[in-house]
Amino acid sequence: MKKRVSFYTLGCKLNQYETDNIRDKFIKSGYSVVNFGKQADISIVNTCVVTQKAEFKSRQTIRRAIKYSPQAFIIVVGCYAQINDEDISRIPGVNMILGSEEKFKVLDFLDGLNKTDKIFIKKSSNSCGLYKEEGNGYFTDRTRAFLKVQDGCNYFCSYCIVPYVRGESRSRSISNIINQAANFTNSCFKEIVLTGVNLAEYYDDCNLTSLVEKLININNVPRIRLSSIEVNKIDDEFINLITSSEKICKHLHSPLQSGDSKILSLMKRKYTPEYYKRKIDKIVKKIPEIGIGTDVMVGFPGEKRGNFENTLKFIKELPFSYIHVFGFSPRSGTEAENLPDNVNPDEIKERSQILRDIAREKKKSFLYENVGRIEEVVFESEEEKIFSGFSSNYIRVKCKGEDLRNKLKRVKIVKSEDLFVTGEILN
Ligand code: SF4
Repeated sequence: MKKRVSFYTLGCKLNQYETDNIRDKFIKSGYSVVNFGKQADISIVNTCVVTQKAEFKSRQTIRRAIKYSPQAFIIVVGCYAQINDEDISRIPGVNMILGSEEKFKVLDFLDGLNKTDKIFIKKSSNSCGLYKEEGNGYFTDRTRAFLKVQDGCNYFCSYCIVPYVRGESRSRSISNIINQAANFTNSCFKEIVLTGVNLAEYYDDCNLTSLVEKLININNVPRIRLSSIEVNKIDDEFINLITSSEKICKHLHSPLQSGDSKILSLMKRKYTPEYYKRKIDKIVKKIPEIGIGTDVMVGFPGEKRGNFENTLKFIKELPFSYIHVFGFSPRSGTEAENLPDNVNPDEIKERSQILRDIAREKKKSFLYENVGRIEEVVFESEEEKIFSGFSSNYIRVKCKGEDLRNKLKRVKIVKSEDLFVTGEILN
């Protein structure tokens, strides 16, 4: 009988991607994958530490893995494993802890180990420079393929633990990326999402713009979406490329975090509100239909009511199609943990709600602006003959139809609702 392995992933898309990569290695080695919660011989939890809550959830999930399969060999990998193996090793039942890079060698480390052996711990030094990846590393959803091109970050924003966990920025070698993208042309994927911790830092003989240019020139490559990009790296060359190619989704996600210059500087972000606005205005002028999403953090230490109001005013002036709102919570090990003037949690809740209401209105008006337009939509899911997918500018589109799943279709947008639009298939 094949040995069974189960997985659970916490945190970001990158973690999801990396779990898929590890899953792939297990399948190739003859294991069968079972759902988390079922009896397994090996159970792997890929953890997250981006907030204290994520750490708590990671611990909770490790305990659940042990409860579901007490006889299984329990392996903890990912960011929490990299940064706090001491805490994890105190959980009875954990057998192996692997850091950021070591997790990909899990099968080698497993060789010859038993559940009764002493806990095995191996953490990464997080090397810099170029690296290669093996395996397919895509999401199990067969519509969109996630292509990781970069890891680590050198920015050290004062609230963020990621640079301490994932290490310095390093880029995947260009030939390795092109090979994987070329493999996607032979599969059923309709979209490639370029992903990384800080995509803008990509560099291997060429920058991100040239990399994207090389990718869109691969024969039959599906359309390409960028996961998130820091505004300081959006230059004219990059804007021209998005403008000129139908293969690149008309969608950018660029984290703003705050619209107040004092708070941005306390956060150690690399731009001012004015700079951010200039860039966005320039993009929208060139590509009016583009969907621009952002992240905003509310209640950062030192954020007085006036600073928050500056953010509100700033956001109202910008054409965001969606906004992810986060309330600040101190993360141990970061600079922001020790900053004075913490904002009261109730006040953070209230400010978050104000911003979420504005975000909702912004989204609604962006959806409304799309009515009458023709968009290319990749359909992903279906419920009672209503198919749902995303346009190039990242709005959810719903259409009646037959067998639209995993198809790219031209759609006329006919009506906007609160969170999506409806459309009619044109071909
Ligand atoms: S850019 Fe800032 S927020 Fe993003 S990963 Fe790097 S340090 Fe963290």
